[in-house]
Amino acid sequence: MGLAGTANKGHGAAGPLLHAVCALLLMAAFLAFSAVSHATEAPLGATGYKMAGDATKMRIVMNFDREPDIKWFLLRGPNRLVVDLPRTRFAINARDVKARGLVKAVRYGDLGQGSRLILTGKGPFSVDKLDVLKNDDGKGYRIAIDMSAASAREFDAALANQALTTGSTVSTDKGSRVGTGPISNPGHRFTVVIDPGHGGIDGGAEGLHGTIEKNVTLAFATELRERLAAVGSYDVFMTRDKDEFLRLDDRVRIARQHEADLLISIHADTISVKGIRGATVYTVSDKASDPEAQALADRENLSDQFAGMEIKDDNKEVTDILIDLIRRETHNFSMSFAHTLVGQLSTSVGLINNPQRSAGFKVLKAPDVPSVLVELGYLSNAKDEAQLLDADWRSKAAQSITNAVALFASAKMGTGAGG
Ligand SMILES: [Zn+2]
Repeated sequence: MGLAGTANKGHGAAGPLLHAVCALLLMAAFLAFSAVSHATEAPLGATGYKMAGDATKMRIVMNFDREPDIKWFLLRGPNRLVVDLPRTRFAINARDVKARGLVKAVRYGDLGQGSRLILTGKGPFSVDKLDVLKNDDGKGYRIAIDMSAASAREFDAALANQALTTGSTVSTDKGSRVGTGPISNPGHRFTVVIDPGHGGIDGGAEGLHGTIEKNVTLAFATELRERLAAVGSYDVFMTRDKDEFLRLDDRVRIARQHEADLLISIHADTISVKGIRGATVYTVSDKASDPEAQALADRENLSDQFAGMEIKDDNKEVTDILIDLIRRETHNFSMSFAHTLVGQLSTSVGLINNPQRSAGFKVLKAPDVPSVLVELGYLSNAKDEAQLLDADWRSKAAQSITNAVALFASAKMGTGAGG
């Protein structure tokens, strides 16, 4: 379908575009730009633009009145996808190009002899698919782009690959991207991303004596990070290390951009029954293990409302069979870690009845990062609240989690079954 990856063309000319507020204003500066000339034809008409998805995965669709002859390539600093078009007249609604999810900025405009669409990522990403397709209703064509959050290493590999394959006609092969991890990246160390729940405007639960969940989670996560780092064989990151608001999909994005082997989300919620106490380990599932787990997931998923704009969960259309297979494998890893974690915690801290539970937590939905959510205890229980503030208790709990990570990491890295 004429999708030439152009490695060299335009790299020099694109630099100044970085700073362009509006590419249209700069057309004179780009007269030397060597896009394919369609000067003799009427300009292509771009008749619409849509984006769907979130910070982990996006689908972008741009409609045209006839088949566009395009080239695309990646640029770094910041991470961008550039689509070169023949001269195009853009009839695009400004609302539709507002930053959203993984796309931090959308710009388009005329370069004199051709036009360009530039998508700036919120950090590194991979282009899973880029197709020019005929519209089903027979009216025109569309460019459909699927992109997902990826690590800087993965982005740079795609960039290097495009430099080697000037004129290549294929979009990034999905299989080559999602298979990355310990196997294809020998320098990779087992990577843990710790996610302190809530933050900023979203305080989370409040304890009987006024303890705020977002502070407990950050304090505990910081201790856990130090313990894990002290082992010396892991890379450890946190989704936040200060009191700031983070959307749930941004937490997942950060885990993916670090190529995490494990995401541990830390919480300490409340429950209406004050007598209930103890730690719980949750994994993701479509069907909740019990009504309490469902209620908790619903509550946690409300976090995004603090962002003022909730992005509806429209990722379903972006998924495919390959992702489903990976998700299944990831799910097995998540279950296995949750099991190990419950075992380790049971020797040091009190657990709730049936401590391994599941529900539809958004923060656990990375398709390729094994993820668990740990409720350390209930702030609605006076004893739990006191424990959560106790340095000895916290260090015991953090050590148990560290032990579980060690068992999981050696099993996963040892068998080379990671991903
Ligand atoms: Zn919480």
